[in-house]
Amino acid sequence: MRILWLMLAAALTLSAAEPPKSVRLYVLDCGRLAIDDPARLGFKKEQLKTVDLSMGCYLIVHPKGTLFWDTGAVPDTYFKPGVEKPTLTYGTVTKSITSQLAASGYAPKDIKYLAISHYHWDHIGNANLFASSTWLTPKVERDMMLAGKSDSRYPEHFSELKNSKFVITDNRKGEYDVFGDGTVILKSTPGHTEGHQSLFVKLKNTQPVVLSGDIYHYPEEVTTGVVPLIDVNKEQTTRSRRELSAYIKQKKAQLWIQHDLVHFETLKTAPQYYD
Ligand SMILES: [Zn+2]
Repeated sequence: MRILWLMLAAALTLSAAEPPKSVRLYVLDCGRLAIDDPARLGFKKEQLKTVDLSMGCYLIVHPKGTLFWDTGAVPDTYFKPGVEKPTLTYGTVTKSITSQLAASGYAPKDIKYLAISHYHWDHIGNANLFASSTWLTPKVERDMMLAGKSDSRYPEHFSELKNSKFVITDNRKGEYDVFGDGTVILKSTPGHTEGHQSLFVKLKNTQPVVLSGDIYHYPEEVTTGVVPLIDVNKEQTTRSRRELSAYIKQKKAQLWIQHDLVHFETLKTAPQYYD
């Protein structure tokens, strides 16, 4: 009997963290992008407060399950003995996603849903870690990614998603309610890429948050209306920004620009969380 109890206790400690009573938002540090010249993003260096970009990854824990949002540029597999700051072209990372998840009580296999804002390399770096999750994706992004038609570098970093369960998130309504209670909503915000999406998270004790994806990179885009040259449809980006601004106002939310390094460094990171 005693052995049975011990086995049960061991099984319990090995399982994922208990679901919380209200939504939690964990910010994971997925590294930095060193930008030599921000011309592709529509700016000269002297017009920007900070030129380098942060890379945020986010874990949302809902009473009904977990969602991982955006996966950085540098795969966890680049961490090797003696390599403290793995680099991939101009992306550098100091902490793996797996270690930050573990510190928060989770493993990639515990994650119910994966969603990425868009297919660019600095958002899909660790997508393969979540191949056993259900992929919440706009149809156009999935189709392009799996057909090799996205202009993402390193398509091998998301290649395992081809076998993942998936749910299509772009619909006529332009939003997808992940847990069905209005707390976690994927918003269709195309323009940067064909099926770019942003994420709304409603919390109990914190002002609601909209995670930008790459609808903006720098806060200066908000004030000037500058659209990056790399966006596939610049008019559509402007339209999506207008719609998202109205949504943010309606929801009394705050906008977190994921690549805004100055803002990112003010955030508390996992294992701390916002609730
Ligand atoms: Zn990006």
